[in-house]
Amino acid sequence: NRTVYAPVQGPEEVRRLAAALNELSKELKKQEDWRHQLMEDLTHELRTPLTSILTQLEAMIDGIYEVSQERLSQMYEELIRLSRLMNDMERLSEAEAAQFTIVRKRTNVVQLTETVYRNFQAAAKAKGIRLEFYNPNVPCYAEVDRDKIVQVISNIVSNAIKYTSGGGHIVLGVNYSEDTSIIFCKDTGIGISKEDLPYVFNRLFRADKSRSRFSGGVGLGLSIAKALAEAHQGTIEAESEAGKGSVFRVTIPNRYKSV
Ligand code: ADP
Repeated sequence: NRTVYAPVQGPEEVRRLAAALNELSKELKKQEDWRHQLMEDLTHELRTPLTSILTQLEAMIDGIYEVSQERLSQMYEELIRLSRLMNDMERLSEAEAAQFTIVRKRTNVVQLTETVYRNFQAAAKAKGIRLEFYNPNVPCYAEVDRDKIVQVISNIVSNAIKYTSGGGHIVLGVNYSEDTSIIFCKDTGIGISKEDLPYVFNRLFRADKSRSRFSGGVGLGLSIAKALAEAHQGTIEAESEAGKGSVFRVTIPNRYKSV
């Protein structure tokens, strides 16, 4: 690691450097707050299942609880959830570090999205959901990290399948302009209420805890998608109506602008 010092030439240069340093410390403070909040969320998220497993095991060891198939399965479920949480945490921290490790290649975004569409065909079919692909029929090229964009698209498509019941319909597709590629995923699923919508990209947020627990989510998929889209200088947004369905849109600039 080589440190590069900006040349200081005059008062104007000094002023600019000071401003840059201030920006940097603001950014660091933001990151520090973020980490702090993450620790709090995680501790909370880990404590509930751990306490439950510990209490049950103690009761079994003390002979207060009989060891039953049902209790063992319940503890097993909690452990599976914990292990899923750990996996997702790992992916989230990778996603956040991604801004430093994005490997861009000129990529046909339509082809890339279509690959994900094919990967999810079987899962949708198994649930009785019609999954369609919208092809804009123009070549769409953007400089992106392919694996990371595949992960973003996979997260929103797997959610669409998870939160749509049999008989439903999902369209995955691309809209393209000279400057941006927009990957969208529209479903006719359970939707998200107005109150919940602003929070879906927050870590560990689940619109309805009991429902999502049942469907196996831990509430990190969309925050991972957001971190990865932002690492591409892009955005991700959602529109939804409870009971009607949702649309997720990932917008990525086609050309990388160094900042
Ligand atoms: P999870 O692991 O719970 O699915 P996500 O971060 O992927 O976590 O999503 C956060 C929450 O947003 C979900 O728990 C769910 O309530 C809501 N959500 C995400 N995608 C959809 C969708 N397509 N339809 C309805 N609700 C959704």
